[in-house]
Amino acid sequence: MRTVRFWVILAILFLANVIVSNLAFSAGQPPTVTISYNTFLDQVDAGNVVTITSTGDTITGTTKTAVKDSSGTTSTKFQTERPTFANDDLETALRQHNVVINAKDPNPPPPLWVTLLSSFGPALLFVLLFLWLSRRAAGAGAGGILGQFGQSRARLYNAERPSVTFDDVAGIDEVKAELREVVDFLREPQKYQRLGGTVPKGVLLVGAPGTGKTLLARAVAGEAKVPFFSIAASEFIEAIVGVGASRVRDLFAKARAAAPAIIFIDELDAIGRSRSAALRVGGNDEQEQTLNQILTEMDGFDSREGVIVLAATNRADVLDPALLRPGRFDRRVAVQPPDRRGRAAILRIHTRNVPLAPDVDLDQIAQQTPGLVGADLRNLVNEAALAAAREGEAAVTMADFGDAIEKTLLGSERKILLTDQDRERIAYHESGHALLGLLVPGADPVKKVTIVPRGMALGVTLQSPVDDRFNYGEDYLRARMIGALGGRAAEKIVYGVVTTGAENDLQQVTRIAHEMVVRWGMSPKVGPLNFAGADGDGAIYQQRPYGEATASLIDAEIRRIAEECQAEAEKLLGEHRAQLDALAKALLKDDSLDEQEILAVTGIKPKEQPAPALAR
Ligand code: ADP
Ligand code: MG
Ligand code: ZN
Repeated sequence: MRTVRFWVILAILFLANVIVSNLAFSAGQPPTVTISYNTFLDQVDAGNVVTITSTGDTITGTTKTAVKDSSGTTSTKFQTERPTFANDDLETALRQHNVVINAKDPNPPPPLWVTLLSSFGPALLFVLLFLWLSRRAAGAGAGGILGQFGQSRARLYNAERPSVTFDDVAGIDEVKAELREVVDFLREPQKYQRLGGTVPKGVLLVGAPGTGKTLLARAVAGEAKVPFFSIAASEFIEAIVGVGASRVRDLFAKARAAAPAIIFIDELDAIGRSRSAALRVGGNDEQEQTLNQILTEMDGFDSREGVIVLAATNRADVLDPALLRPGRFDRRVAVQPPDRRGRAAILRIHTRNVPLAPDVDLDQIAQQTPGLVGADLRNLVNEAALAAAREGEAAVTMADFGDAIEKTLLGSERKILLTDQDRERIAYHESGHALLGLLVPGADPVKKVTIVPRGMALGVTLQSPVDDRFNYGEDYLRARMIGALGGRAAEKIVYGVVTTGAENDLQQVTRIAHEMVVRWGMSPKVGPLNFAGADGDGAIYQQRPYGEATASLIDAEIRRIAEECQAEAEKLLGEHRAQLDALAKALLKDDSLDEQEILAVTGIKPKEQPAPALAR
């Protein structure tokens, strides 16, 4: 609204300026009439012409009594064109009649005030307008030119009154319960003030992208029916030095004036990264100043004023410890990815306005989508609705959801040309993964295997856990590694050589083996120690907390585990070569196989999986 008004005012002023200066130029001046050359000569002969000025063949001048042009306008100022072929003795005629030649410019310069106005006017108007606007925008504090600059961009955090409530957030009930207290406080700050209760000043929402942190912050404001002031910290990174700090100052001033209110700082890690973090080359002044300003502001008010600062980050481990001190973001709330029931609830929210066919079972969809967070599930519903719309269906069916799940989990199909050899090799590779998924006890059930290229992958084997797991046993981890090595093992058994197609698989194996040894104490030789975080961003230790001997031991143990898994993968596939061939053949024929088809082709019963001894 404000901005629209600003531009309207500006446009009016501009127009007025143009009109005024044009009028001023011609004010009090008779219009110029254009007359023919004949008429001009007649006027000279009649002694009516007083002065002329000639520029090239154009002659302008003034007359004693007004002359008339063809349209009937009369004026004492005229203009005419002298034909180039004119062979008259104009000068003699002019002299004879005492016409002043070139005596003065028939368009006298406009008066000084007009000149000044027309050259400085627009600039002056801008300055006045700017002063007026910044005076209007000025809330409190913030001095200096930069302060005004910060304020002129105040729209960035104009108060918002979100309409979302806790009903729009699902699957994270513990978090909602924690934030309920904040809502109660914002609703009735007086009650808390009377009771002298302590309310957190700052609450930090920590969670993976898409888990609903931003949504939650808005829902808190929506539930409490208070204004919501938000900024994304990443906006400051490239800002002019000083702007970030002044915006923060302004943001807090505004929120305090509007209390009870919520301030939301999104992506806090963008500026709140630990100032000692090794990777920061030379540091970033703007970040530092903005961060300091946030700290200063948070120290400078009492939560009983009715302002609560919420912030969101993907990673709390990299935050500057100063942010987490008491009186700042001293309350941290973990926003976890939803479990199966949570996913079903989120799907229910996002399908509220989507017509669903009777066969749609949201619980079943939730079961098939472990690892997806709120944002993914919302996309899933969108994809399914789009698929339904494409097919011209009146309601979204389970098949649409099936397509959407595949697309979301596997990426969309890619069109590339593969030779028959390539396809066969890929078929064997994926069959290797799939077969081991069936053979190794504890492995996740194989839901689908395909050799249709998708995303980055030439083929995909989709395994999904029976339910979400948060705690993994060693057997399960080994099963994962054996399965991951299955593609490579199959290629080796069938062709005797391996290809680069296994790069991703090897990354997985390396990561799991590494974590088993340095993080989960699963190597008897290294012992029950955790060296996680000894390198990388969230550095806990200044230096590697172990010596050279342990370092080589760790390397050796990682290698041992990976090699054991590889041997196991090759052994199992060698023993089940017939099933491997059958699976690859079926894949080459049909491109993709679902769980039932895989079981049918291999003849393996899901419950009667053989239990080979794991190599230890
Ligand atoms: P984050 O800030 O954690 O990255 P967002 O809040 O931006 O995640 O989530 C993006 C969108 O995903 C939300 O606007 C909402 O539509 C959906 N979403 C995410 N989490 C949930 C949830 N727990 N319940 C319902 N919808 C969710
Ligand atoms: Mg967000
Ligand atoms: Zn693979």
